[in-house]
Amino acid sequence: MDLASHIRHVPDFPKPGILFYDISTLLAHSDAWRETIDRMAEAIRPMQPDLLAGIESRGFLAAAPLALALGKGFVMVRKRGKLPGRTVSHAYALEYGEDVVEVQEGMIEPGQRVVLVDDLLATGGTASAAVTLLRKVGAEVPGAAFIIELIGLGGRARLDVPTETVLQLE
Ligand code: AMP
Repeated sequence: MDLASHIRHVPDFPKPGILFYDISTLLAHSDAWRETIDRMAEAIRPMQPDLLAGIESRGFLAAAPLALALGKGFVMVRKRGKLPGRTVSHAYALEYGEDVVEVQEGMIEPGQRVVLVDDLLATGGTASAAVTLLRKVGAEVPGAAFIIELIGLGGRARLDVPTETVLQLE
């Protein structure tokens, strides 16, 4: 199945000059979405995860069904201030300013193998911050998986874990 044809391209969103790859149309097509999750599950299985960590918010959409498909738990990596209770944070630099990713304390046991999942790998800044955060709480990160990789932006080189992507776009 041609999964790339199910991704909608939205120019100038969220700001002028950005071409946004919208997975809404992929999610809305049950066969295409099932095949996406099947392909990601087969790519992740050899990484032997104990848990899958999804990055807010579209990463949740893939990580939750993947965790069920693989019979593993799912944990949320969220932006600052969204998770209740005690959290562990990691701040990372953006082009202008900084952002913070967080996980709840006690969700991940030291030594657990946690595979990171998000919808799209662009520069790799978000994913590499999430890998750092997961390691901060003692996780081993045997890999990361994304639906879409924007190959021109070199995000893969920024990640020091094996990286699996379903669709490679320019
Ligand atoms: P980056 O940190 O540059 O790798 O950006 C990845 C994060 O930003 C992911 O969580 C994506 O959902 C989002 N993102 C970045 N660029 C795009 C794009 N062109 N279309 C859709 N989402 C994007």
